[in-house]
Order: sequence, then structure tokens, then C-alpha cells
Amino acid sequence: MLALALTADLSGVTDLRPDDTEDKPFFYTFKVQCTSCRETHPNWVSVSRFEMNEQSGSKGEANFVWRCKNCKREHSANIKEAPKSYPLSSPPRIQNIIEFDCRGLEFVEFKADGDWLATGLESNTKFTAIDLSEGDWYDYDEKANDEVSIKDLKWQIRRA
Ligand SMILES: [Zn+2]
Repeated sequence: MLALALTADLSGVTDLRPDDTEDKPFFYTFKVQCTSCRETHPNWVSVSRFEMNEQSGSKGEANFVWRCKNCKREHSANIKEAPKSYPLSSPPRIQNIIEFDCRGLEFVEFKADGDWLATGLESNTKFTAIDLSEGDWYDYDEKANDEVSIKDLKWQIRRA
């Protein structure tokens, strides 16, 4: 199992998580490496836990099915559980956000495309459509009368 792990400095918000439901699936965007031939491919790929794709040779379905252009082998990945939310902690602590069961491939680099959610720490304000693609995020919590932010994001892919 591989996990996408996050370390981030949250201020005034907690429970940072991908907006990922059956009605609004989140697409996790990665660069992918073939573990058969070790080629890392230049194009970004996207994986959704609500999407099923047919594998060749009656191997059933998987969330992500991918054929390596270099060695022509077909590989797959599945997401078994819903994402976990990232809590505010001081100092920031690394935490797994989502785990992947990968067959013949590894995700090697993550791009934070898509909408993220977070909750005001004391105010319970719901922040939606948080964009982390450019890195830091800043907003204002009207209920708490205070600035909120998410900074110093570090994405890692590690063994789960
Ligand atoms: Zn390959």
C-alpha cells in the first residue's frame, strides 16, 4: 500500500480534506512510475475512488488502469477507503490522507488539483472550494473575526 501524506501549517482551521463524495468525486492527480521497467511517465494521471475501469484479461475492474507505454504492461491501482482529514497540530505533523493499493505501478509525485474542505477551529465555519494548487491558502473567518490560512504544504508518497 502507498499513502499520500501531508504536512501543513494550519491556522484557524482544521480537518483539511479533499471534497470527495460520490456526487462530487475528487480526482487525485499523480505522476506514475512503472515498477516493471522503472520508467517514470511525464504526463499527469488522475484517479477517482468512484470510477471503475475494466482491466484486460478478465482481471476485473479497478479505479485506475494504466498501460506503460515503455514495456506495454498493464497495471492498476485501487482506493479502498475514504480520505482522512488533516487536523491542525502545532508543530505540524505528517499524516496520511489517502491510501492506494497499487499493482505494478507507483505514484511518485502528487499535484493538489481539485477542491478541498476545511472547518473553522472554534467557529465551525465551513470552508469549501479551497484551492491548494498554488500552495498557500488564505481566507477570513467572519464568525471568528480572524484570518485563517494553510501554509507550507508538503506532499509525500510513502509506504502505508
Ligand atoms: Zn513499464
